[in-house]
Amino acid sequence: MEEYAQLLKQTEAEGCRAAVIDVNQVRFDPVFRDACAANACGNYGRCWMCPPDIGEIHELIAQASSFEKALVYQTIGELEDSYDFEGMMDAAKAHNELSIRLSTLFKEQGFSKILHLGSGGCHVCEVCAKRTNEPCRRPDLAMSSLEAYGVDVSALARACGMKYINGENTVTYFGALFFCP
Ligand code: SF4
Repeated sequence: MEEYAQLLKQTEAEGCRAAVIDVNQVRFDPVFRDACAANACGNYGRCWMCPPDIGEIHELIAQASSFEKALVYQTIGELEDSYDFEGMMDAAKAHNELSIRLSTLFKEQGFSKILHLGSGGCHVCEVCAKRTNEPCRRPDLAMSSLEAYGVDVSALARACGMKYINGENTVTYFGALFFCP
């Protein structure tokens, strides 16, 4: 998209693929919150930006749907094999660090409103303040996830011309900036 070429270039300069789409192309389904409730990541009820604390799913879908555009970005991590748990964790860490860096870039764009969703919950603090029942330490940086907002990430990848899965021994993560120009 020509009008966001500079932003896409700046985002890709951080080492990821990126694309801008209309938010009406994003598919939402409350069913994706079930993955959060299954608590495979251990953050359910233990992070201010994760369910159930982040909010009711239909309200979050309505909130995300109210934006006009979404800049979607993708990182691909290399694994030694499909059991390389350490490699997956390293790739997730690299993606989350990228998301935190991109937050600064996105805030500089002067959009009228933004919502930045990452992968698998907020990773700004090593241990979320929710675990000790304290207020969020960095509300300016805190970031929820595509999953928590019910985004169908597989459909999102297709809408952006990206692959959801990128081959044997890789792991792929997504993030998206929802914005109104
Ligand atoms: S910024 Fe820190 S305290 Fe706030 S939600 Fe994220 S991890 Fe939790």
